Amino acid sequence: MSKFWSSMAKRATPYVPGEQPKEINVLKLNTNENPYPPSPAVASAITEELGKDLRLYPPPNAEDLREVIATTYDVTTENVFVGNGSDEVLAFAFMAFFEPGQTIRFPDITYSFYPVYATLFDIPYETVPVQRDFTLTTESFYQSEGGVIFPNPNAPTSLSLPLEEVKSIVENNPHTVVIVDEAYVDFAQQSAVELVNDYPNLLVVQTTSKSRSLAGLRVGYALGDEQLIQALIRMKDSFNSYTLDRLALAGAIASFKDQTYTEKTIQKIIATRSWITDEMTQLRFHVLPSETNFIFVSHEQYEANTLYNQLKEKNILVRYFDSPPIDQYLRITIGTDEEMQLFLKTLKEIINKLE
Ligand code: PMP
Repeated sequence: MSKFWSSMAKRATPYVPGEQPKEINVLKLNTNENPYPPSPAVASAITEELGKDLRLYPPPNAEDLREVIATTYDVTTENVFVGNGSDEVLAFAFMAFFEPGQTIRFPDITYSFYPVYATLFDIPYETVPVQRDFTLTTESFYQSEGGVIFPNPNAPTSLSLPLEEVKSIVENNPHTVVIVDEAYVDFAQQSAVELVNDYPNLLVVQTTSKSRSLAGLRVGYALGDEQLIQALIRMKDSFNSYTLDRLALAGAIASFKDQTYTEKTIQKIIATRSWITDEMTQLRFHVLPSETNFIFVSHEQYEANTLYNQLKEKNILVRYFDSPPIDQYLRITIGTDEEMQLFLKTLKEIINKLE
């Protein structure tokens, strides 16, 4: 800390992302990346864009990308905002809709970036306890003072809240904005996007990082009422006019145009998820019913931390959170079938030694 730091720099408690090891022989099941490459159309579009004019600034309001997203979700371009990863979109949403002095609510077990933004922007927050089985209590989100944010499906628990319950949270917060962070929704059954035209206080945030295999391109987006989108654009234009570069725009547009490829990848991951869930259950792991591209597991007999460390020694990275009540759980990203077979084989060897 230095006397030159602003109070904002001083109070910031930055988010700590999962490890990104340099070694190439590591099986990375720790940051919920997609094991499959993006649609081949993405690389072609980026290559083509490279041959064009990088001297020029990109279009500041990314109309072409917003339009193709609007078509995908059957809304209008005015209902769509895009940003540099959904983390950035979420940051703009905190600035645009939450107020210092008015307490917002989010679950006590959730995406750990929310308290980071709240602290940064000086927004007071209260955490709503999840139940013992990690499900959310819908009513405890009603009538919030400053607004609500939660991921659906939730991270790191992998559990989904039914659409009817999302709707009731939105309906019971008529004076504040409810942000539903749908980073993993493509691996789930239902999205709240279909509600955005009915509720002016609902903002749905999604990303190309998971189901579209584009975590490295950094493209996230929000869908909501035109007035909400205008507020997000005001925040962006007061911060950085060009949050998405020409290559990212070209790649993301190509991805949204190749919906068939995305659907196929999602189905493969869901099939692997179902297979690995059965296998882990047979090993007497408790596996939460996942609607994401990861599973959240614990075992009565083996310490999660021990398993995490021993997997790491064997070059397999999973995510371990050293804070109760989830300190006996591991979050494991779904890889390809081959990767999950290697993971399972290694896990069995570790367990056999621990017995
Ligand atoms: N929301 C949730 C719940 C997440 O897990 C993540 C990924 N860490 C994000 C948002 C951010 O994703 P991205 O910035 O890559 O779009």
